[in-house]
Amino acid sequence: MRALGHRMLDGMFDHIAGLGAGPVWQAMPEAVRAELARPLAQAPISAEEAWQRFRDLVLPYHAGNAHPRFMGWVQGGGSALGMLAEMLAGGLNANCGGRDHAAIAVERQVIGWAGRMLGLPESAGGVLVTGSSMANFMAVLLARNAALGAGARRAGLAGAALAAYAQEGAHRCVADALDMAGLGRDRLRRLPVDPAFRLERGALAAAVAADRARGIVPFLVVGTAGTVDVGAIDDLASLAAFCRDEGLWFHVDAAFGAFLRLSPGLRALVDGIEAADSVAFDFHKWGQVPYDAGCLMARDARHLHEGFASAAAYLGTAARGLAAGAPWPCEIGPDLSRGFRALKIWFALQVHGEARLAAVVENGCALARHLGQRIAAESALESLAPAALNIVCFRHRAAPEAVDGLNEEIVADLQEAGIAAPSLTTIGGRRAIRAAFVNHRTRRADADALVEAVLAAGRARLGGAERTPPPG
Ligand SMILES: *Cc1c(COP(=O)(O)O)cnc(C)c1O
Repeated sequence: MRALGHRMLDGMFDHIAGLGAGPVWQAMPEAVRAELARPLAQAPISAEEAWQRFRDLVLPYHAGNAHPRFMGWVQGGGSALGMLAEMLAGGLNANCGGRDHAAIAVERQVIGWAGRMLGLPESAGGVLVTGSSMANFMAVLLARNAALGAGARRAGLAGAALAAYAQEGAHRCVADALDMAGLGRDRLRRLPVDPAFRLERGALAAAVAADRARGIVPFLVVGTAGTVDVGAIDDLASLAAFCRDEGLWFHVDAAFGAFLRLSPGLRALVDGIEAADSVAFDFHKWGQVPYDAGCLMARDARHLHEGFASAAAYLGTAARGLAAGAPWPCEIGPDLSRGFRALKIWFALQVHGEARLAAVVENGCALARHLGQRIAAESALESLAPAALNIVCFRHRAAPEAVDGLNEEIVADLQEAGIAAPSLTTIGGRRAIRAAFVNHRTRRADADALVEAVLAAGRARLGGAERTPPPG
């Protein structure tokens, strides 16, 4: 096992070192799909054979999000350091649901660092979860409790009609969170944005007043720090002030935007986040930590305990011995058994350091600016949103009668050729090629390669004829 382990480690280092030379992504051949759909065989195979199968069936057909030219959605690339930390965590096999051991202390230390990164007060607490989807869901429950009182955990909504508010570009999981909390997706008021794609404060005030007039109880405003589509950041300070005045819970979905706090030049973009009642964010996106590593922070740690603790004789904490160390993480979140997510974060924050993580964030924004300039200089391309952060939305302008379809084909062409992996979105009713820069491995040459590949795919699709309409 030891010898195999060393070979596996070398194999994975080779994989990571060779990422940029291979395709970003390649589709699984039918034979591989079939192999991966087979029922479990009666006879076991050796660990050696399982490693070989992994190399044949899994490794070549990865999603590519660690690759320097992966630019789709908002996905992190992880790091070799994170891989090693995952191995250590697996070797330890800590159950971080509770009890008195060092892995829990590491998680509390990481949560303390996160609170300081966000500028939250010392009273803040937090818990590591799968991702921002879960963290946003938990925040909805905390906000519900704040509005209805602790009794809501026993009685549920008991007929109360609650409403939450977010901008129309808020992540899908915010509506899902209202659904899962039993409030209903329609109780998320999706509000219009200004030209910079930020929640319109006037629309928010009007929606809250309209709900109050109808007997509906406004309870939560979700500000977004980094929308998925265009990387817009709501005016968090203004939303915080509004929530203070109106007595509403202010939650910030800062899934990737939280890391802007590390950059002296960029942190002003998320001013006001430190005034939030709760913040959801991911270490597995801009934090360069491998999946999964999400976090919910609450301004007052007691809210987490009041929101999730419940008694069971077999889980009672003790004053001493292994059952000491209250409050346990299982009392401040929904999971009982939970892995040692904190370790890979603990490694990343200490080894990379805040300054180098800030440099990764700054580099992502610089790459977006560079790509924006390249697009502006190409008459065949047009930008569909300002490259405000680390995200660029643009399209190929040729063949205006079928421009949406053309851009969809171009994205699929690039992905299937393994050249680059942008994704698609829709901006103002128009299909957009979308590139997000999250990965520390991505360089200017990779952004340039995307431009060249989009132009080449457009030429190929249009039969070589340049059908670029005049600008304007
Ligand atoms: C990625 C993302 C989410 C969802 O987070 P997961 O970690 O994928 O669950 C929510 N909000 C925003 C703005 C995101 O970018």
